[in-house]
Amino acid sequence: MNERGIKQVDLIRYAQEQGVKLGKSHISQYVSGKTVPRADMVYFLAGALQVDPDWLNGITPEQETEGETDMREFKKSSKLDHVLYDVRGPVVEEATRMENTGTNVLKLNIGNPAPFGFRTPDEIIYDMRQQLTECEGYSTAKGSFSARKAIMQYAQLRQIPHVSIEDVYTGNGVSELINLCMSALLDNGDEILIPSPDYPLWTACATLAGGKVVHYLCDEQADWYPDLEDIKKKINSRTKAIVIINPNNPTGALYPREILQQIVEIARKHKLIIFSDEIYDRLVMDDEEHVSIASLAPDLFCVTFSGLSKSHMIAGFRIGWMILSGNKTMAKDYIEGINMLSNMRLCSNVPAQSIVQTALGGYQSVKDYIIPGGRIYEQREYIYKALTDIPGITAVKPKAAFYIFPKLDVKKFNIMDDEKFALDLLREKHILIIHGGGFNWKQPDHFRVVYLPRVEVLEQASKKIADFLNGYRQ
Ligand code: PLP
Repeated sequence: MNERGIKQVDLIRYAQEQGVKLGKSHISQYVSGKTVPRADMVYFLAGALQVDPDWLNGITPEQETEGETDMREFKKSSKLDHVLYDVRGPVVEEATRMENTGTNVLKLNIGNPAPFGFRTPDEIIYDMRQQLTECEGYSTAKGSFSARKAIMQYAQLRQIPHVSIEDVYTGNGVSELINLCMSALLDNGDEILIPSPDYPLWTACATLAGGKVVHYLCDEQADWYPDLEDIKKKINSRTKAIVIINPNNPTGALYPREILQQIVEIARKHKLIIFSDEIYDRLVMDDEEHVSIASLAPDLFCVTFSGLSKSHMIAGFRIGWMILSGNKTMAKDYIEGINMLSNMRLCSNVPAQSIVQTALGGYQSVKDYIIPGGRIYEQREYIYKALTDIPGITAVKPKAAFYIFPKLDVKKFNIMDDEKFALDLLREKHILIIHGGGFNWKQPDHFRVVYLPRVEVLEQASKKIADFLNGYRQ
């Protein structure tokens, strides 16, 4: 405590703020060694003092190895040195620590529909149960025939050209396929254009594969559409591909056909692969139409990603897919690499593949959520108004998905560090959001809110954010 310049009263006050029971007598007993704190209290104190819980318990690294002097230390691979994945990073760790000590944290940080009461359609569960006993073995590496046929037909409906069943791969979520595609493509130093802000898995996987990620700007002044001039400026002879996320996480933007056409023209001119992450393609509001960029680029090599995590509220089942389309001759060798990696992971989750056909056919219950009166629509209406009513916050109204990426008036709040802003909000109001930096956004002026909770909960959350910002200065 002395080293940290923390007094007993500071700890007691902090504990009160966190809803943790900690009196003066407890601390005196811990300090004198008369009692040892319980495990949850150790975690709380370690977090508050920013020390290792083992150290606090009096366990030193030497004791841990029982006297061994020449301890071998295992370090993480240096390949991870430049990998950033803050969506589950330090702020989330602090939230977990707070939860472990009994604090109730409202999590507005990940797009996981199930915990917010979004139920999987009954038919999906019924069909998976029916087929479970037939899903015991591995499937072929790309996935079962019926799942891939359904995805191929889905590609036809979306007017994605030149897609045969061999061009469809299922994955344990889109996540696995993003990683696979980046690993198969990028040599050390190869460049790839990824949006800023991004869904950070793209940047993380490209970096891990040895690629050099070049972020292009999405422009808030232009409804968060990709800044085409910025893209053009950042292309050079090492640029192999461009990634677009449409509909977008974290901004909720939906790109119009004209913008997509211009991106295609740039890709055509510079012979780039187009990777299009379209996992939110069925979560589009306001009668807008989602256009698959691959449908505009029959002469280019495109990879389109989607899945059922969001549209069918089954993020935990882990099922996504990718569709190769357009000019596959130019990517023959790359496709061989994709096949090697696909074979190496044997196959994706087979029970989840078994419900793809059911999910993609027939009535799409997700539609009920995204029209007026539907939960996602009404929650978007609410959060947009509530947040933009707070002095010092502005936002572009999202058109799709379930995220909003509001802007903070950094001058008003003197914000220099957006991660600190997220931590301060978490510690004071027990609300977990992700700071803009977590999405490779370079200025400290944004944060992302997941608006999956019901309106009543969003109401409490936005009131708390307003209250927190009233008078906040960094
Ligand atoms: N792509 C985007 C843009 C996402 O937002 C997410 C999840 O939030 C994913 C991919 C990962 O999806 P999956 O559950 O299919 O791995």
